[in-house]
Amino acid sequence: MNRSSASPAAPAGPALTRRMARLGTETAFQVLARAEDLRRAGRDIINLGIGQPDFKTPAHIVEAAQKALADGHHGYTPAGGIPELREAVIRDIEARRGVSVDPGQVLIMPGGKPTMFFAILMFGEPGAEILYPNPGFPIYESVIEFSGATPVPIRLREANGFAFDPDEVLDQITPATRLIILNSPGNPTGGVVPRETLDRFVAGLERHPHVAILSDEIYSRLLFDGHEHASMMAYESIRDRLILLDGWSKTYAMTGWRLGYGVWPKQWVEAAERLAINCHSCVNAATQYAGIAALDGPQDAVEDMRAAFEERRTVMVDLLNAVPGVRCATPGGAFYAFPNVQGTGLSARDLQNGLLEQAGVATVAGTSFGAMGEGYVRFSCANSIENIRTALTRFEAHLAGGTLGATGP
Ligand code: PLP
Repeated sequence: MNRSSASPAAPAGPALTRRMARLGTETAFQVLARAEDLRRAGRDIINLGIGQPDFKTPAHIVEAAQKALADGHHGYTPAGGIPELREAVIRDIEARRGVSVDPGQVLIMPGGKPTMFFAILMFGEPGAEILYPNPGFPIYESVIEFSGATPVPIRLREANGFAFDPDEVLDQITPATRLIILNSPGNPTGGVVPRETLDRFVAGLERHPHVAILSDEIYSRLLFDGHEHASMMAYESIRDRLILLDGWSKTYAMTGWRLGYGVWPKQWVEAAERLAINCHSCVNAATQYAGIAALDGPQDAVEDMRAAFEERRTVMVDLLNAVPGVRCATPGGAFYAFPNVQGTGLSARDLQNGLLEQAGVATVAGTSFGAMGEGYVRFSCANSIENIRTALTRFEAHLAGGTLGATGP
């Protein structure tokens, strides 16, 4: 008998795990790729899709990296980062969050993302539930699914300034809840969670000691209208189960450097460091020296960028509110506007696609940030005021049925 005909049907080729089919992505990168394709084909595209500052990294930070390379810092560093950088992070946490932490609790990572990836892998497994903001940064839901856990959306409502409702979230906690993810200032909404909301929430969390918390505070220095950052680190009662995520990408215009950090409770540092060693070993040394220069050096560039984002945000929101069928809440932080576009009669995805293909304006549909983003579109303020004005003119013309775009203003 022919052996191959007796055995079960052989797969046609190597098969990926089922887990891989559950891993999502960040649509902003697809929009960016499509916008670039259109630009290469000669179209005039205004990119309001991307979540990165359009500024250059301040010169003294770049110079610190160049010096580190010239000085011969070319090898591996400790997995959690060079001690001088961890010390600089601690000083920054003390200055901005008023809390003392041990250098050993700070793990330097290649960007903000690995801290969230590791935290979700550490608590997510089949049978576990993880609460996450929706609409929210798409990687949360994607990695929760990947881990096998059940994603439980924390609903963020426009009427509530896109802050979560603490009582509602506390009611969503079950014995299976392992991790709650919070993000303020928030992507994509720009929503800022008020301190009183955190006070109420933390008081309730004390009744649920089995739940870990990941607080993504990557936009903590991008606040407008005099808002002060309310950090989850401020609450001592939950500090032994709180993971803080922050980094350099947004604050210092360093998205491409890949530098971020997590502050971990002592009980989980070793596990998180083990994941880092299995994954990336360490962040490249020169970038870590740049990180020290960023934290310890002059901060005027940070304030200049923040002020620029605030001004653009104001222009963007005013112009959006003048578009028929569009209503836009004023974001208190980050660098996005998240207008409600239900009045246009178009779905978020149709509007995103039409705006890019016909009007030459790249944005990201609210549904890229979760099902609860339907009816909204994210406009990034990481572009000049002139381009924002032109983009909004195109947006209005697009809705009015015109095709102002590639050849428009
Ligand atoms: N967290 C949020 C809410 C973000 O919006 C982003 C980036 O867009 C990140 C984390 C990831 O930052 P990084 O580029 O440093 O990995």
